[in-house]
Amino acid sequence: MQLVIISGKGGTGKTTVAASFSYLSINSIKADCDVDASNLHIILEGKDRESKPFTGAKLAYIDPAKCVQCGDCENTCRFGAIRNYKVNELRCEGCAACTVVCEFDAISLENEITGRTIITEIDKGILSRAEMEIGAEGSGKLVTEVRKNAIQYRQNNELIILDGSPGVGCAVMASITECDAALIVVEPSQSGLEDFARVLSVVEFLGVKPYVCINKYNINEEISHEIQKFCSDRDVDVIGRIPFDNTVIKAINELKPIVSYPDSVAGKEIKAIWEKLKYKMKEEAQK
Ligand code: SF4
Ligand code: SF4
Repeated sequence: MQLVIISGKGGTGKTTVAASFSYLSINSIKADCDVDASNLHIILEGKDRESKPFTGAKLAYIDPAKCVQCGDCENTCRFGAIRNYKVNELRCEGCAACTVVCEFDAISLENEITGRTIITEIDKGILSRAEMEIGAEGSGKLVTEVRKNAIQYRQNNELIILDGSPGVGCAVMASITECDAALIVVEPSQSGLEDFARVLSVVEFLGVKPYVCINKYNINEEISHEIQKFCSDRDVDVIGRIPFDNTVIKAINELKPIVSYPDSVAGKEIKAIWEKLKYKMKEEAQK
């Protein structure tokens, strides 16, 4: 089974929940799909075991020895990526149109390294993660690779827990696809509700079973009720309500999972959500 933890936008407490589940779950494989800002390995005190370059895109290259400076490629490139017979790497989309029009065989497409995939050893197993190069495109492909690496470490069909990236972009779609369940973390604010509605529709579109937890539900009980009503109208299970807790800020500053603080009220609720979710996922799988 695969469980992804996601949110409609950043800063909702998604990683607090994902790090806690990873800490509580001994046998699962963990995957940090937040390739733009991976940080699960820091909270889980991991040690990197291997790291490989990832070539997720192609870039055009002009060989000056073959180029006769006719300008055909510059006129063809829709992305304005060629100026003065040179390719601007930040603009090139690797579409290959320039290679087709160049009659002098002066342009080739080359693999571009867009990030690194990393296997990290943590106290409770293996964490698959990646780091994207600054300004690189194609985070969806990198997320797919992170998942593939996590699957490779499975021995007995263990659960895979994925920390998805926030929002509804292609990296998020890549982390939700193939999952059996998605836990959406939402904060009670008007914009939080709108972002949540968007990400919920993506989860439902991809045919993944959604569960919801409201983080800091007591900072705005009115909107928390609105979120619950919204979910119950769509038959979506609100599996937990995490209270505001100052210990969460302490845990973030100390780079530790909140569930490792025994007196934390938020930690206690996250533990309860984890138990409920495991039970519900098992129940769902038997249907
Ligand atoms: S089409 Fe080929 S020969 Fe002409 S400018 Fe471009 S690279 Fe040079
Ligand atoms: S590969 Fe496409 S985007 Fe890149 S320079 Fe050539 S035509 Fe432009």
